[in-house]
Amino acid sequence: MVRYSDELIEEIRNRNDIVDVISGYVALKRSGRSFFGLCPFHNEKSPSFAVSPDKQIFHCFGCGVGGNVFHFVSKIENIGFRDSVEILANRANVALPTTSTSEEEDKLYYMRSRVHEINKIAAMFYHKNLYNPTSKMAQEYVKKRKLDNNTLKTFLIGYSGTFNELYKLLKQEGFKEEEILASGLVNKNQNGEFIDRFRKRLMFPIQDERGRVIAFGGRVLDDSKPKYINSSENIVYSKGRHLYGLYAAKKIPQKKMLIVEGYMDTISLHQRGITNVVASLGTAMTEAQGRLLRKSSEQVIVGYDADGAGQAATIRGLEILQNLGCDVRILQIEGAKDPDEFIIKYGPDRLKKYMDNAISLVEFKIKNLKKDLNLDVANDKIKFLTEIAKELAKVKNSIEKEVYIDKIALDYKISKEAIYAEINKIIYTKNNNNKLLEKKNVVIKPKINDDQEKISDSILKRENLVIYLLINYPDVSYKKLKENIGVEDIKAQKNKQILQKLYEELEKGNSNIVNILDIFQDEDIVNHLSGIMATDFEITEVAKCIDDVISNYEKDKLITKRNDIIKKLEDTNKLTQDEVANLERELSELIIKLARMK
Ligand SMILES: [Zn+2]
Repeated sequence: MVRYSDELIEEIRNRNDIVDVISGYVALKRSGRSFFGLCPFHNEKSPSFAVSPDKQIFHCFGCGVGGNVFHFVSKIENIGFRDSVEILANRANVALPTTSTSEEEDKLYYMRSRVHEINKIAAMFYHKNLYNPTSKMAQEYVKKRKLDNNTLKTFLIGYSGTFNELYKLLKQEGFKEEEILASGLVNKNQNGEFIDRFRKRLMFPIQDERGRVIAFGGRVLDDSKPKYINSSENIVYSKGRHLYGLYAAKKIPQKKMLIVEGYMDTISLHQRGITNVVASLGTAMTEAQGRLLRKSSEQVIVGYDADGAGQAATIRGLEILQNLGCDVRILQIEGAKDPDEFIIKYGPDRLKKYMDNAISLVEFKIKNLKKDLNLDVANDKIKFLTEIAKELAKVKNSIEKEVYIDKIALDYKISKEAIYAEINKIIYTKNNNNKLLEKKNVVIKPKINDDQEKISDSILKRENLVIYLLINYPDVSYKKLKENIGVEDIKAQKNKQILQKLYEELEKGNSNIVNILDIFQDEDIVNHLSGIMATDFEITEVAKCIDDVISNYEKDKLITKRNDIIKKLEDTNKLTQDEVANLERELSELIIKLARMK
């Protein structure tokens, strides 16, 4: 990691508190000296994802992922180290110098900047082309959709050429064929001709959070199929990681964000004063999109047709949002098929009112349950009550739960007592099951990989403790531990490598060992090490703890020695009488020593 200077990395780290950064993605709650939340890297119902403000690290005790703030950002944004440094530098307003890197990385980085540039030029080209006299069809279309000039500019709406106009322009601007093809905006056909991917289409540039154009959607203006085509994935764009309109929406701070289906819904609502609107560009919500939403607003209102055919997928998407800590609401409009039609018919104020009254996910699920049931029939009513209770049992906040119960009792004419009784039944059985589970695994321990499975937990824990002591108390522990515990005494491969490196660094006088995570490139080691750092070894007296762990190792060595001698003495035929006598003396000394140690 010689890309940026250590000092710079240090400064960026210092200005980006890990709890602040992670809170942008995960809802964290303080518990003792650490924060806990639901792990964004694996599916879980109870939090095992820990963030330590003291050590500035995170670690998931469920799936074993961990590291520092840079590791977190690279993982969650699915980007490389260099990009995570950039994002965090940006976030903290730290200026970055241009630095040289490995050739391969340089090349990729350069290629990406070229594709970004191509996208920018393409967006401007399409946009300008919309105003050309030859683009009559497109002009008529935007007029029909009542899009004003301001909107066309805000969203950079454009019109593509008819054959290879963009290709010619890009060549003229000095882009290489390799770069142009990497953008995906131009294809090469079998005859070796270069043809624009988007032709005679109304163009919607997709911008990332930072406002860079990363992809395009293109709509036909006649009846040809497909109606929309989008950029394929490339080095700057991957599907499901972005939200259309987010850049425009974020220009104004938003408490609520309305999520709609497509380009036109977003644009139409934005123009009519609902600026807190984005589109998911596809039916199912991804976690990456959920995190973007969570970062930009407290409440997410889902404005697309959640009652439609893909309902199960939609609900799963909403649950993803909820698990990320978003307050999820579902818009229930009447008298129009979608928000676009609604706002045109009734205006923005009425839509805003509906947004304020959007219902919670629990209410939405319950409303759906009722659809197929007839509550006048006893059996259906029982079924309904059980399902309601199941949903309500999941609500952790008791005030929120009470509000729902009151509302449901009123809406569906069911007594509150009946609902409470049903919920309690579920909670009671669940708790009993949990108690059984708790007994089975009391200790949460970091995930252990194959080569460590043969090593007992107690040995592994001891090795981890040695590393923990070196990192947290180098001044008092280093000399003592180095003298008594060698790298060869360590059994687990990862721990061996970590200890080796720690000894090396401490030998060099590198006392800033807390940043040890930076030294390792191997992801498995980073995960394992963050696990050690996040573990609470409950050390009360450091000096005593060091002595104890050393004497443990000493004892182990003596035991090994003792066992060796016993083995040799089993076969006295191969030994002289003197040798036997010596071994026996040594054995009795060892036994005495061991007895004293206990
Ligand atoms: Zn996890």
